[in-house]
Amino acid sequence: MSKQVSSFNKALSDMAKAINSDLTTSEKLHLLVRLTPRALAVRGCSLLLLDAQRKRLVHAPAHGLSERYLRKGFVEAERSLSETMEGKVVKVLDAATDPRIQFQELAQQEHVVSVMGVPLRIKGEVVGSLRVYSRTHRDFTSSEEQFLTTVANLAAVVLESDRLIETGQPPLETKTEAAPHPVPLTSPLKPATFAHPSEEEFARLLDFYQIEWLYEPRSFPLHWEEGRITEMFTPDFYLPGLDLYIEMTTLKPGLTKEKKHKMRRLRELYPEVNVKLLARHDYDRLLAKYGHGPLSGSKTRGVGRVLFSAAQIQRKVRQLAREISKDYDGQHPVLVGVMRGVFCFMADLMRYLTVPADVDFMAISYYEAEKGGAVRVTKGLDINPEGRHLLLVEDIVDTGMTLSFVLGYLKRRNPASLAVCTLLDKKVHRLADVHLTYVGFETPDEFLVGYGLDYQEEYRNLPFVALLEEEKMDAHPTA
Ligand code: 5GP
Ligand code: MG
Repeated sequence: MSKQVSSFNKALSDMAKAINSDLTTSEKLHLLVRLTPRALAVRGCSLLLLDAQRKRLVHAPAHGLSERYLRKGFVEAERSLSETMEGKVVKVLDAATDPRIQFQELAQQEHVVSVMGVPLRIKGEVVGSLRVYSRTHRDFTSSEEQFLTTVANLAAVVLESDRLIETGQPPLETKTEAAPHPVPLTSPLKPATFAHPSEEEFARLLDFYQIEWLYEPRSFPLHWEEGRITEMFTPDFYLPGLDLYIEMTTLKPGLTKEKKHKMRRLRELYPEVNVKLLARHDYDRLLAKYGHGPLSGSKTRGVGRVLFSAAQIQRKVRQLAREISKDYDGQHPVLVGVMRGVFCFMADLMRYLTVPADVDFMAISYYEAEKGGAVRVTKGLDINPEGRHLLLVEDIVDTGMTLSFVLGYLKRRNPASLAVCTLLDKKVHRLADVHLTYVGFETPDEFLVGYGLDYQEEYRNLPFVALLEEEKMDAHPTA
């Protein structure tokens, strides 16, 4: 038996054993993509699944590829090894020149030279693809192709049995009556049908910030009786890039309590799972920030409680400036602000610095529900940031979606360093986990105005930071 055949046998036997174990679906898939590169003597392997719209491929588990490569942007089903979507095997000898590779430059930086991709089919329907990446020129042989196809079939079995568990049917109990149509698959494989319009809106917002999402991709068993699952919990969204599940509660307060209970149980049973509850109220505020949703039309007649007085703010800004001046001693950083809320903070901060600093501003497009599309830089930097020490200055970080987009943009311009200074940190709302180097104040879960922050362009001129009068914001919702 050739060396390769015995290594294929070993890998397939390990895979079969894992699939027939009590590992979770995700653990099983991870194992498949970990064992595959070893058997084929390649650098890495990734499993890509079509998203709910069947337009993009989402990296499910991968092995041997850098985070940077995996998060390279959306892999468009039509542009990236598209033939696999038609059920064909694709072999790319040289990724740097082959037009079937969507991100050629990145592939080169990743030292990916040859690629082989096979379709992932469940009961005949193509739902994704399995790919391997090699560092050297490889003319993949037909037995290597056969091996990868077998692994793809195993992955399909894992995905399919997960679906059976989710629909509440124990995977071992084979149903005799055949379904009239192929049973619809759970997301990410089925087109997303949202249970509530607010979920659809949220999906659009995520699309805008180019944050990958999957709708209800996984159910977590919470209770069992005599070996049968009696209670499950299916979070609404999974954001693979952030490894975060999101459950939206648009329900009555009574039901929210029940959900909170479920969440607690989920956290106990699956401590490794990162899940956040986005309550109706938070969500409406999130949308109101962009001028949408039920709160967006509410008129306020003044500010409520002052949260940070003018004197408190000035003291804090001086303190931040001292820290920054110390850390950047001997350097000449560039302060970068994202328009427009930051202008008050930026102006004060700059005046308290004792190191020389340049200042520059950028602007990005704003989410508009009707327009869709994706966030864009509408005004770039005037200063060339390459090789410079950039300090991104923010007024407030809320979900972190804006910041993570801007940081991604700035990183690609090859600065010497990149740090973040924010006056206000609304931590409780964070979705995208971004590192904040300098933080002025942590703020409660409230909508704030003043010191540059506006509500529909009002209140920017206040020298303090205040809450909008709570009842007034909620008392006159216009749908
Ligand atoms: P993120 O992307 O972190 O959710 O939101 C960041 C942007 O949303 C901020 O730069 C700011 O423009 C806006 N924002 C977030 N929270 C507030 C708030 O409490 N008040 C005001 N006026 N704007 C906010
Ligand atoms: Mg801002």
